[in-house]
Amino acid sequence: MDKCIIMMKRRVGLIMKINGDNHTHTVYSHGKNTIEDNVKKAVELGLEKVAITDHGSGHIFYGVDKRNWHKMRDEIDVLKKKYPQVEIVMGVEANIIGSDGSIDVDEEHLELFDVINAGFHYGVKPKRVRDFFSLYLLNFFGKILPFLKKRAMGANTKALVNAMERNHIHMITHPGAKVPVDMDRVAKKAQDKNVILEINAHHLHLDLDDLKKAMKYDVKFAINSDAHQSIHVGMVHKGIEIAQAAGLKAHRIVNGEED
Ligand SMILES: [Zn+2]
Ligand SMILES: [Zn+2]
Repeated sequence: MDKCIIMMKRRVGLIMKINGDNHTHTVYSHGKNTIEDNVKKAVELGLEKVAITDHGSGHIFYGVDKRNWHKMRDEIDVLKKKYPQVEIVMGVEANIIGSDGSIDVDEEHLELFDVINAGFHYGVKPKRVRDFFSLYLLNFFGKILPFLKKRAMGANTKALVNAMERNHIHMITHPGAKVPVDMDRVAKKAQDKNVILEINAHHLHLDLDDLKKAMKYDVKFAINSDAHQSIHVGMVHKGIEIAQAAGLKAHRIVNGEED
């Protein structure tokens, strides 16, 4: 096992570990390393699974160029043969671009992905002008003006719930990060639609409060690195700390194991 992971485990008294990382980025969006670099790190750590989940094309600054989705699929298919010891998953971290739950994955690309994850991000081209007001401006002013905060939270929650309703979402990435959401409503919908909620070790969301709320529902969780460099693949100790503080057991974590 990686030396720094062993030291980390000793320091924080972790009793859980992960056997896969479902959220990593590469040079195709805003990561620093290649798909193969992330895969090699997963192999080095002895992980059973690694997912490549670059950003949906609607992100203005680092969405994947639409012409690269096929290239990525081909690259991953070649790597699957080269590294049979690890399951390589091609995913996408789609951006929510509308109150109606629209995401930035084109119909024609859907078949390329093994899984579709979705989350809130700034810097995304909204679907319609009114989405710019309800998703972006409202959150911006909600941070400054307390009376708008509740309205912003309602609008964010509606968009996230609608996203789970209208798309086949595998996992919601870092729920509660970037913008506030009503976790009870989000977790209830995740339960109904069998969607995984992520404990993101990079953004530290789900945070402890939201995780405790979400745990009341029959929903599964995943603890992921959201690595933007291959050296961070599998680095989830802060996520494990949140899970342990909440008393979340490994059997509820899709990539979790008692250690
Ligand atoms: Zn994200
Ligand atoms: Zn990410």
